[in-house]
Amino acid sequence: MLRLHDTLTRTVRPVEPLTPGQLRLYSCGPTVYRSVHIGNLRTYLLADWIKRAARGSGLQVRHVKNITDVGHMRQELAERGGDKVIAAALAAGRTPRQIADAYEADFHADEAALGIEPADVFPRATGHIKEMLALIERLQGRGLAYTAGGNVYFDTAAHPGYGRLSGNATAALRAGAAAEADPDKRHPADFTLWKAAEPGRRFMVWESPFGPGFPGWHIECSAMSMAYLGESFDLHTGGVDNIFPHHEDELAQSEGATGATFAQLWVHGQHLLADGVKMAKATGNVYTLATLTERGYDPLAFRYLCAGVHYRTRLNFTLTALTAAQRGLQGLRQVVARGAAGAGAADPTLVARVRREVQQALEDDLALPRALATCWELVRRGPLDPAGKAACLLAVDPLLGLGLDRPPARAAADGAWRPAATAREEARSTGAYATADDQRRALLRAGVVPEDGAGGATRYRAATAVDRHRGLISSPQEVPDERDRADAAAVSVSLVCRDHLADVQRCLESLRRHRGPAPVEILALDNGAGGALGAYLDQVARSDPAVRVFHADHPLGEAAARNVTLRAARGTVILVADTGLEATGDCFTPLHRALSDPGTGAVGRWGVRTDELREFRQVEDLEVDAIEGYCLAFSRGRLREVGLFDEGFRFYRLLDFDWSLRLRAAGLHNRRLPDLPVTMHAHRGWEEADPEERDRLSRLNFRRFYARWHHRQDLVVAAGGRSEAPAAGGP
Ligand code: AMP
Ligand code: ZN
Repeated sequence: MLRLHDTLTRTVRPVEPLTPGQLRLYSCGPTVYRSVHIGNLRTYLLADWIKRAARGSGLQVRHVKNITDVGHMRQELAERGGDKVIAAALAAGRTPRQIADAYEADFHADEAALGIEPADVFPRATGHIKEMLALIERLQGRGLAYTAGGNVYFDTAAHPGYGRLSGNATAALRAGAAAEADPDKRHPADFTLWKAAEPGRRFMVWESPFGPGFPGWHIECSAMSMAYLGESFDLHTGGVDNIFPHHEDELAQSEGATGATFAQLWVHGQHLLADGVKMAKATGNVYTLATLTERGYDPLAFRYLCAGVHYRTRLNFTLTALTAAQRGLQGLRQVVARGAAGAGAADPTLVARVRREVQQALEDDLALPRALATCWELVRRGPLDPAGKAACLLAVDPLLGLGLDRPPARAAADGAWRPAATAREEARSTGAYATADDQRRALLRAGVVPEDGAGGATRYRAATAVDRHRGLISSPQEVPDERDRADAAAVSVSLVCRDHLADVQRCLESLRRHRGPAPVEILALDNGAGGALGAYLDQVARSDPAVRVFHADHPLGEAAARNVTLRAARGTVILVADTGLEATGDCFTPLHRALSDPGTGAVGRWGVRTDELREFRQVEDLEVDAIEGYCLAFSRGRLREVGLFDEGFRFYRLLDFDWSLRLRAAGLHNRRLPDLPVTMHAHRGWEEADPEERDRLSRLNFRRFYARWHHRQDLVVAAGGRSEAPAAGGP
């Protein structure tokens, strides 16, 4: 029997359908004014596996997944330019309906690509306004709704069960209230059932007994689930962010209206993270399925990745992890392909046993990692013939949905790569292995991988994302942490390169040209640029052993990018440099000298002071509060004492100040070196960022910075004590 974790009772409970043999399942679906991201898709995969497990245990499933096509498409936002997609679409003469249709079609395509079986019904919110209004009137009839300012609200105080699902969480209520302060509400937790249309609203307006307007978000799901599954049904799914307020509110208004139990069991999937934080458009770390397929990944590799982590555990997405998943998937498909090609018959009792084991794993609160482990144990088992293994894998595939019968790799189509292949074969036959290696790289660039057989014959297959990902990193944690190892250079330069090849060349060449007598290593990160910039860095590294290059598979946040180089650095001193920096003389010797003073924390060419940790002034004083990150140096040992950069700083701004204050908190001085032979050209990271985006990221970083330091105003030079020079006046 299928057992799942129920958020309401916080226990793993058996799923016992209200109608024996018939599971009724409701899933909160997508909001179709933007593309779904792979975090959303992880949650839809959860419902799909529940269905497969239920069917495997003999249940029939009726699945409803709604399409939210109203409520977020706010006219005023569109006109203010708040929602760029809608603004652009309106400018192009498209209606919200057309936008919703386009995104809905994309959503269905993504689900299909992931092997997610379509729900039986995909009701659209705009098609169920009547049902929502009827529900609101029922709530009014039971004294659970009130009208104020033309809106209708749910009266949470009148519903005793409110807060049961989220376990609540007055803090959550307060947070919700702060985000949405509304003077018409009687209680901050009350939520909108019906919202009056603002003047001039042209789209998404309906007549109602309360006047023209549009429904609140939560009422949609209550109305549509009841319309297709009845007032009581078995299972309700969503991501953990749905628990509050969406499902709390859905539960209250549904049970408030009917007096009956709404869903028997609530299942919530944990989030998919990227770069260690929740994937969300506002954070700028969103991957869509299209971004993965463009890079050559099989969508089902993402499904495999999700199967490897229990649904109640957060999953940090990286392309490195996805690459491993694709390799795993290819491995299973190879076993199936070999079995199909080879002879031998499957043992039906073994097939049945493996199927039962996988089914049992799924029934045990969807233990998919265990189901995958069962598959791999089978594959690794010695004496079993290939046909037997293939039969077992094919038998469990309907439960897993991994498309294990698909060919593991494609042969390369004929093309312009042939001459490189011939050149490589010739080079190999004469033992010119360096040339052969060059040709192998040329082939890979052309999307082809040579596989040399035992007899000397070479087969050519199409390169996969696994081949392309070789040598790329997804996060600093993939780079060995060398902080405890002995110094191996006088100075390590940290250079993060995003684009602007000419800047990178100017900076890197100037640093190489002005190396003094002491050994300097330059650690350059190609931060997701690839192309000509990546090739340039590789070429420099080949000719200069003092230059080491790392390639990130996507643009890492500023602190994470820096940490790649900081983990790998072996210099006594580290110089963090912006690619807008140009050395005009040997800057390494003076940095090294300045940092040999044990009381000094950071040094650099430019610095700031502050009086109140809000505004920072660039100053000429020698003692400063913070050294600016264009040119910021410190002893490598400090990374052991105070840690690496804080990866919460995804934007470069204030990261340098944060780091500088950490050094001040450790009792050290930060000093400007006004004669350091460097100049600064345009700072592209600032100049070319989208102004709105830049402000938003700056604000996020500021909040982080301020939360950490505002109660430590004693640390600033102006507070006295540590200051050598008189503090400069206020702004
Ligand atoms: P939305 O379109 O934001 O309403 O989200 C659709 C579904 O995806 C909801 O069930 C959310 O709980 C879920 N969801 C949103 N973000 C994530 C994430 N980062 N990881 C997993 N599920 C998510
Ligand atoms: Zn919902």
